[in-house]
Amino acid sequence: MKVALLQSTTEPDRTVAMAAHLCYSPSSIGELSERMAHDEVVRLIGLLRRLGHLSPFEHAHFVVGIEGLSRVASHQLVRSRIASYSQQSQRYIDQRGFEYVTPPSVRRDEKLNDMYERHMDSSRELYRELRDRGVSREDARFVLPGAASSNIVMSKNARAWLEWFELRTCTRSQWEIRILANRIMRLLRDAAPALFEASGPPCVTQGLCREGKMSCGRIDRMSVERLPFKTPRITGKRGEQ
Ligand SMILES: Cc1cc2nc3c(=O)[nH]c(=O)nc-3n(C[C@H](O)[C@H](O)[C@H](O)COP(=O)(O)OP(=O)(O)OC[C@H]3O[C@@H](n4cnc5c(N)ncnc54)[C@H](O)[C@@H]3O)c2cc1C
Repeated sequence: MKVALLQSTTEPDRTVAMAAHLCYSPSSIGELSERMAHDEVVRLIGLLRRLGHLSPFEHAHFVVGIEGLSRVASHQLVRSRIASYSQQSQRYIDQRGFEYVTPPSVRRDEKLNDMYERHMDSSRELYRELRDRGVSREDARFVLPGAASSNIVMSKNARAWLEWFELRTCTRSQWEIRILANRIMRLLRDAAPALFEASGPPCVTQGLCREGKMSCGRIDRMSVERLPFKTPRITGKRGEQ
C-alpha cells in the first residue's frame, strides 16, 4: 500500500490558531493575518482541544492519495461520511490484470498462500473470459474479489481526521484500515504537528477505552508505547471503561 499527502491547507496549524484567536480576542481581521508566534499557535490549539472547541479545526483540510488498498478495506473507508472520495472505477478501467492484497494470515502459510493465489488467478481468468465474450466492464467486475486493490483520493478536515483516527487506529479496527490510518496519521503529524500531536485511539489520547467487553485489554501498554506527547489520564481498570 502506498499513501501520500497530496495537498493541504497552507500552514494548517496557524490557520486553526488564527480562527481560535478570533474567537477569544477582540482582534480585527487585519490583525489576525499578522504573524503569530509559534508558541502562541501551539497554546491556542491546545486550548481548543482542552475546551473541546473543535470547530476551528475544520478550517484545515488535507487531501491524501492511497494506492493498493483492497476493496474490503475501501468499503470500510467510505463508510465515513464526513469526507470526500474519488475512487478508481472498475466500470471505466479494465480489470484483466487486477492486483490484489494478501492478508498476512494467509501469506505466512505457504499452502494457504498458494490456494489463495490460485483463486485470484481463476477470478482473473473468469473476468477475461467474460470480457472476451463481450460482457461489459460494469458487469464483468461482479466476479472480482474483495481482495482486488484500488486507488483512492480522500480528503477531510482536521477535526474529521482526528475522529477517524480515534476509530481506525484502535486495535479493534480491521488490520488493513488500521495500517492505513496509522500511516495517514504520521503524514498529518508531520504536516501539522500541533493539530495532530494528540491523535490516535482514545486509550492513547484520553486514557480511556469505549470498547467495553470487546476491549483489547491493553490500555496501559498502549498508552505508554504509542504516546508521542504528554502522559494520559488512565481511568478505571484494564478494558473496563
Ligand atoms: C471497529 C469497528 C467496527 C465496525 N463494525 C461495523 C459493523 O459491524 N457493521 C457496520 O455496519 N459498520 C461497522 N463499523 C462502521 C461504523 O459503524 C461507522 O459506520 C463508521 O466507523 C463511520 O463512523 P461515523 O458514522 O462516526 O463517521 P462519519 O460518517 O464520518 O460521521 C462522523 C460523525 O458525524 C455525525 N453524523 C454523520 N452522519 C450523521 C447522520 N446521518 N446523523 C447524525 N449524525 C451524523 C456523527 O456524529 C458521526 O460520528 C465499524 C467501525 C469500526 C471502527
